[in-house]
Amino acid sequence: MDIFNQHQQDIAEKLETQSEIKQWKDWKWQMRHAVKTIEAFENLTGIRFSPEEKASFKTTIDRFPLSITPYYLSLINKDNYKNDPVFKQSFLDNRELIVSKSEMSDPLSEDHDSPVPGITHRYPDRVLFLVSNVCAMYCRHCTRKRKVGDVDFIPDRNQIKQGLEYIRNTPQVRDVLLSGGDPFLMSDEYLDWILTELQAIPHVQVIRIGTRTPVVLPYRITDKLVSVLKKHHPIWINTHFNHPREITASAKEALAKLADAGIPLGNQSVLLADVNDCPRIMKELVQQLVMNRVRPYYIYQCDLSEGLSHFRTPVRKGIEIMESLIGHTSGFAVPTFVIDAPGGGGKIPVMPHYIMSWSTNKVILRNYEGVITSYREPDNYETTICDRDCDHCKLELDVQGSDEYNAVGIEKLLSDYDDTISLIPADNDRMDRREEHDA
Ligand SMILES: *Cc1c(COP(=O)(O)O)cnc(C)c1O
Repeated sequence: MDIFNQHQQDIAEKLETQSEIKQWKDWKWQMRHAVKTIEAFENLTGIRFSPEEKASFKTTIDRFPLSITPYYLSLINKDNYKNDPVFKQSFLDNRELIVSKSEMSDPLSEDHDSPVPGITHRYPDRVLFLVSNVCAMYCRHCTRKRKVGDVDFIPDRNQIKQGLEYIRNTPQVRDVLLSGGDPFLMSDEYLDWILTELQAIPHVQVIRIGTRTPVVLPYRITDKLVSVLKKHHPIWINTHFNHPREITASAKEALAKLADAGIPLGNQSVLLADVNDCPRIMKELVQQLVMNRVRPYYIYQCDLSEGLSHFRTPVRKGIEIMESLIGHTSGFAVPTFVIDAPGGGGKIPVMPHYIMSWSTNKVILRNYEGVITSYREPDNYETTICDRDCDHCKLELDVQGSDEYNAVGIEKLLSDYDDTISLIPADNDRMDRREEHDA
């Protein structure tokens, strides 16, 4: 698809008699004309649904509203829309109303791990900061669907200030991830203010922004926005392409602007049934991403959010995809496949197995071709006992000014300086009996 092709021209003309390319590329015009009703969708695409279909959509649209930018709409292949990856990500499906037993409205417990509104503090050194409740397009597979259709709003300064205050008072936080909603739907000035405030916090080392605008509203990446972002380096951006069809001329232009501004770009895809659950599609996607200077970062297993069961694939599909990427294409084109643990455990990487066996001095590995190989380990590696007395360690880590931290979880079991032998679940019967016995 090229910039302002015939199809886009048709849509633009239907929306405003005087439409021209200048307006089409105005992101606010795109937002004002976002498609929110079935009628508008039919009118602009020429796709027609039966009266029965339309009647059945009503309940779904009331529960999970529709919003598609004219740009993203123009990517739908009208002649085969039922199989179209853009259509499936943006147009409602009545199966969204089916809630299976294992699904939850907040599967990642983001609201539980929230010390102040808008902040999720899950990992030791970084926080998720939801700064906007607005999206250009409502992804049907949204993991935060519970919040979609609550009125679109940008939290006011007071609410944002609470979040900033939390970060200011929490010196462990060295990485802040702005997400939402979509942070790029804030005005340049408002975003500039938040970035300025964050940057003024001495312990905040990097700011990350998660946005889908390069995919659904590439015209949002204006020169003005880029000049705002550039002032606040180091800024990293993660975007959300799920299918090679989304990498259009306009998307490429947006990505180039961001990359030219020195912003490292990453991509997070969600594995979606009948959209991108195919090794060839994923390989094509990651290769096109790196051509546009975007590093594939994560492939997510679809979360257990309510109404997403028709999008979910078995975990083995993700492993199969990883198997066809690792070794088969450039290492930096290979993302990490992760399952975001239900209940708030964070992202867990999942991989095919490469270690086949191990002895005292040899590891047996297999590669992507199925070649089985052995690696001879060193005979004279001197094991050092680490007592965390870094000042006297021969490795020259200058720990001055770096934070003391305690090992957590498995790291703790592996460490020499902590005596913990095992990690035991809180409700372990055997341990309870011991306590009773000892009492
Ligand atoms: C994904 C996520 C992060 C960032 O995780 P990375 O693996 O560092 O990208 C931080 N906080 C929350 C709550 C998250 O869901």
